Amino acid sequence: MNQDMAGPVAAELTARDVVAVALTWVDNAGVTRMKGVPVARLAHAVKHGVGASPTFDAFLVDDSTLVTRYAGGPVGDLRLRPDLGRLTPLHAQPGWAWAPADRFDLAGRPHPQDCRALVRAQTARLAGRGLRCLAGFEIEWTVSPAGRDDFVPACSGPAYGMTRVVELSDYLRDLTVALTSQRIAVLQIHPEYAAGQFEVSVAAEDPLGAADTAVLTRETVRAVSLRHGLRASFSPKVLAGSVGNGGHLHLSLHRTGTGTGTGTGTGTGTGTGTGNGDGDGDGPGGGTDAGDGLGGTSLMSGGTGPCGLTAAGEAFVAGILGRLPALMALGAPSVASYLRLVPSHWAGAYACWGLENREAAIRLIVGAEGAPGAANVEVKCFDLAANPYLAVGGALAAGLAGLESLEALESPGSPDDPRRAGTAVLPEPVGCDPAGLAGPELARRGIRRLPTGLGEAVAAFEADEVLRDALGIELHATIIAVRRGEIELFAGEDQAEIVARLRWRY
Ligand code: GLU
Ligand code: MG
Repeated sequence: MNQDMAGPVAAELTARDVVAVALTWVDNAGVTRMKGVPVARLAHAVKHGVGASPTFDAFLVDDSTLVTRYAGGPVGDLRLRPDLGRLTPLHAQPGWAWAPADRFDLAGRPHPQDCRALVRAQTARLAGRGLRCLAGFEIEWTVSPAGRDDFVPACSGPAYGMTRVVELSDYLRDLTVALTSQRIAVLQIHPEYAAGQFEVSVAAEDPLGAADTAVLTRETVRAVSLRHGLRASFSPKVLAGSVGNGGHLHLSLHRTGTGTGTGTGTGTGTGTGTGNGDGDGDGPGGGTDAGDGLGGTSLMSGGTGPCGLTAAGEAFVAGILGRLPALMALGAPSVASYLRLVPSHWAGAYACWGLENREAAIRLIVGAEGAPGAANVEVKCFDLAANPYLAVGGALAAGLAGLESLEALESPGSPDDPRRAGTAVLPEPVGCDPAGLAGPELARRGIRRLPTGLGEAVAAFEADEVLRDALGIELHATIIAVRRGEIELFAGEDQAEIVARLRWRY
């Protein structure tokens, strides 16, 4: 299919004056890397792939490299194949198109450490149960004048203030045009809390599409920013002491009515319900949008569980909540991530959940009245240092572990089934800022701080067999090595030094 499409696609690109295609993948450090091909080589790239060293799996954020057990070193080659289904001419980079790449070994087998393959595999596991997840990343960034390495906010208006939009009106207009012309379904665009900070939220889609959209959105923000003399930073912490950039991940679970698994919960839908919106613009007064109608029957609403969750919806969320410390190694993967995760900064620094609670790591959004299918959860503790494929792939694996626990509890099988030890049930929701609760109260409610440093998250990730099984031994081990390599890279540096070194890397 991909191969048959290559000729017509190349002809269409040429007709649109596109001369080169950027094939991107995101490495384990969260950096989007690329190889480019002229349009005339696109069909060749689709058929045979484009060479790329497997050593990129062991790259650190500063471009230094490791040699680890399963990655690194000068020997070997992989083939990048563009996914033509997502090929997009780039509005702010005339003459260029973009396509996310899948990575294969020389024999044509999927590379075991390919993160798009991880997302596909977890999506297929859900589909086998007649389930579908919709996902969307919120993109937050800050702008500073181009051509300098320090950070000076490029606008002076207040948080969420119309003044900022007036100051940067042409920039935000051009950004909206670029995103929408690239078929990115923008739900909201607005100034955020921190100085010079903005946010775009986009409609929910299938998990692989959501990760691809996260890549395309941020590169578009970067490109439009430069055209306006601005430099965009997606780093979790752009200025020491200030509010950081989040990369919140919205997820909702739906029953499609197809698939062969026994499944759980109460949904019986046939794919006619509304999908979840990305949630909201998450500033005060943010609303909720209905999604694309592709989701099937929502399992996040209309149930008898807490806040209307169905049993399956609850198990999926509980699976994610229970694994959050380990998932942080994927969703908050930078030493800078832990400078952002400050309580009372809307970053979700506590491992708990709550209805519309912006200080809970997992915020349940029930959706506006009349749009029940819009219910979703927002994983707030994730940021944009994350490789979005790893972040969503890991979250799905964790949610699936919750679903498996529920299946084990509901089946007449052995009481020793190890999956029963998992978590299918959520604790009490938290309806306040946990930072305001005294230690004994936190302990009584079982609310813990999420890891306060990358080392703690990596230790949890290393011990996590569910994530290791989902990612595969090789990818799991390489990520641990990369994280520890970066911990070493920044050892002994103070907050200001870390922030400055990482400000323009993501
Ligand atoms: N900028 C905040 C963060 O670090 C998030 C603000 C919001 O709730 O959108 O995640
Ligand atoms: Mg926000």
